[in-house]
Amino acid sequence: WSSETVAIVTGANRGIGYEIARQLAGHGLCVILASRAADRGHKAADGLREQGLNVDSHQLDVLDAASVESFEKWVVLKYGGLDILVNNAGVNFNVGSDNSVEFAEKVIATNYYGTKRMIETMIPIMKHSAFGARILNVSSRLGRVNGRRNRLGDANLREQLLRDECLSEELIDGMVVKFIEQVKQGSWASKGWPQMFTDYSISKLAVNAYTRLMVGRFSSRPEGQKIYINCYCPGWVKTAMTAWEGNISSEEGADTGVWVVLLPSQPDITGKFFAERREISF
Ligand code: NDP
Repeated sequence: WSSETVAIVTGANRGIGYEIARQLAGHGLCVILASRAADRGHKAADGLREQGLNVDSHQLDVLDAASVESFEKWVVLKYGGLDILVNNAGVNFNVGSDNSVEFAEKVIATNYYGTKRMIETMIPIMKHSAFGARILNVSSRLGRVNGRRNRLGDANLREQLLRDECLSEELIDGMVVKFIEQVKQGSWASKGWPQMFTDYSISKLAVNAYTRLMVGRFSSRPEGQKIYINCYCPGWVKTAMTAWEGNISSEEGADTGVWVVLLPSQPDITGKFFAERREISF
């Protein structure tokens, strides 16, 4: 890695994203802090530059296709592309087992479709290198198919989500569309979805499945143009999202993410789910 290595972190103005950006820059990379509110991103970047870190910032709202498009154009013009994309931007409105239509739609749109939009838009401008370009999706154990306390009730869907040959964009999109329809009808609670943080858990289930789906898409890329994609759970982190509850700091929560994207050689490390610097099951 060098100062020529360009990493982008979404939602980097605060919380775990800010820490991932700070730690990557600490390893000597050039890091772009992408932030929904430009001024918040600039302020965070100013603070990091004062510490001697090589960072830049730009406005990016993952919900807004025009914002993502103009961000991509700016990256090409200023940096010629990117080596590392960390999809960290996310929201969670759950305070219990309640799902309002507005919140469910926003959580799925930000956490799943926003991540997908970023990946689709940035793939063409990922730089070619011997190391391989890298994508990391910040996910959650709440999005595990067989989570001990938060399991998907539908055994057929569970099996489809876990079998690579069954995975498709239609399957994943179909799952989230079905859930939103059920929230609108008021029938979601009896349909076997994860009972904790339901909309948030489904958004991360979708992110995890999409991560594995992309491995198949990337597998045919020739040597020198490889892209490795993984996801990780930062743990229960004291940030605005958890109302500052949690048992670890953002600094600790960022650690595994930074470790994964900087692993020296990645050929076998793709389509995996990590937590606390080790692989965990989907
Ligand atoms: P924060 O709420 O502190 O930070 C979320 C970041 O995402 C903010 O920068 C926020 O911007 C940004 N964001 C939200 N919506 C958008 C959008 N539409 N476009 C661009 N940026 C957006 O939360 P955390 O740091 O805790 O969360 C970061 C990631 O970690 C999320 O993906 C979350 O799901 C995941 N995670 C967190 C856990 C925890 O315990 N905290 C546990 C497991 C996973 P703004 O400041 O403008 O609101």
